[in-house]
Amino acid sequence: MSTDASDAPHPNRNLLIGAAAGIAIGLGVAQLPPDSALHATATWVIGLLGGMFIAALKMLMVPLLFASVAGGIRALWAQRDSGRIWRITLLFFAFTAAVAVTLGITAANVFQPGAGLPPDLLPGAAAAPAAHQAPDAAGFLHKLLVESLQNPFRALTEAAVLPLIVAALLLGAAVGQQPQRFATLGRLIDELLDLSLVVVGWVMRFAPIGIGALLAKLAATATAAVFGALAKFAAVVLATTLLHGAVVLPLLVWLLGGLDPLRYFAAIRLPMLTALATSSSAATMPVTLRAADEDLRIDPAVSRFVIPLGTTVNMDGTALYEAAAALFVAQLAGIDLTLSQQLIVALMAMLAAIGAPGIPSAGMVTMVMVLQSVGLPVEAIALLLPIDRLLDAVRTMVNVQGDLATSLVVQRLAGRGRHGHGGTG
Ligand code: ASP
Repeated sequence: MSTDASDAPHPNRNLLIGAAAGIAIGLGVAQLPPDSALHATATWVIGLLGGMFIAALKMLMVPLLFASVAGGIRALWAQRDSGRIWRITLLFFAFTAAVAVTLGITAANVFQPGAGLPPDLLPGAAAAPAAHQAPDAAGFLHKLLVESLQNPFRALTEAAVLPLIVAALLLGAAVGQQPQRFATLGRLIDELLDLSLVVVGWVMRFAPIGIGALLAKLAATATAAVFGALAKFAAVVLATTLLHGAVVLPLLVWLLGGLDPLRYFAAIRLPMLTALATSSSAATMPVTLRAADEDLRIDPAVSRFVIPLGTTVNMDGTALYEAAAALFVAQLAGIDLTLSQQLIVALMAMLAAIGAPGIPSAGMVTMVMVLQSVGLPVEAIALLLPIDRLLDAVRTMVNVQGDLATSLVVQRLAGRGRHGHGGTG
């Protein structure tokens, strides 16, 4: 996978300027007489720019998700001879993602960062009555099994996520099974992903303006209570993500991979810092591979498989974030999600993390599908985007760590050990 888009500058400074300017403009607009022409014009422009930014994210979701899943499965299928390695890899990916999602949902339920605010504060909350009719567990299972087998072209045009993922899985598996015969399609999948990433890079250049406009809208209409809720949400997500990265994964590595936490962290510090600095698993991948080879001394047969695959599909930090964020949005909108709806959120968050490529803020693009799955207002992304730089950096660090942890565990459980972990970096 190309890392072009992730190499594109992710202009921190411009984002900060855009965010500050947006808040200032929003506060200014709030002072204007509501019936003045200037108020109307400013509100229109702010709405237009913010709306375009969100629409661009939604537009990119389908090609990105489709190509990312199809490409990942294709790579997996090409490795199907090393059965034991990939079975343990997939199992461990799924297990840690499930733990992460459970942590995210539990934390959001316990700390309720979005509870107690008037629901009309949330942009678009009024347009979300569907949440109350979202399917229960039995309905969801039916949907999962029957409706996920849909005409793929219809799924593409309607952005129906589950059928889209099923179609991508089938396409990727078939192309991976007969790579010579479907060489063109294989290249098409790769190029579609690369192309989507290029366009994501463009959209992210527009992010300072888009985020500025979204913040302006927020500042013009919201109260300090919303900002308080956002701060609480950020704190809850950060603490839970760190819990997963600093306790859960190292513990699993210790128990299943046979490396104690101190030596483990010493060996992986460089990829962790790179992930923190770039917010991109893909951009970090060369550093991750090097740490796997030289510091953790992982058998290349394992690391060359686990790490590139994990870079696209294994994202515990993203899964945790998306689950917690969906619950936060539901709390803000005053919508009580039932247990089965929360299970749907958990499943969709895991799928969304699989579908997110390893580039900055990719999780925000696939967040759309998690919100849609239980009928929550997609516009709520406007609230989440401004704090995403910080959260993205930390969740990317955990995403990258997950790939290294998996490599260690797979190497040990598949009996592929290269002796002696370097461990001290
Ligand atoms: N930035 C994350 C990564 O590269 C993906 C995300 O946005 O969650 O791993």
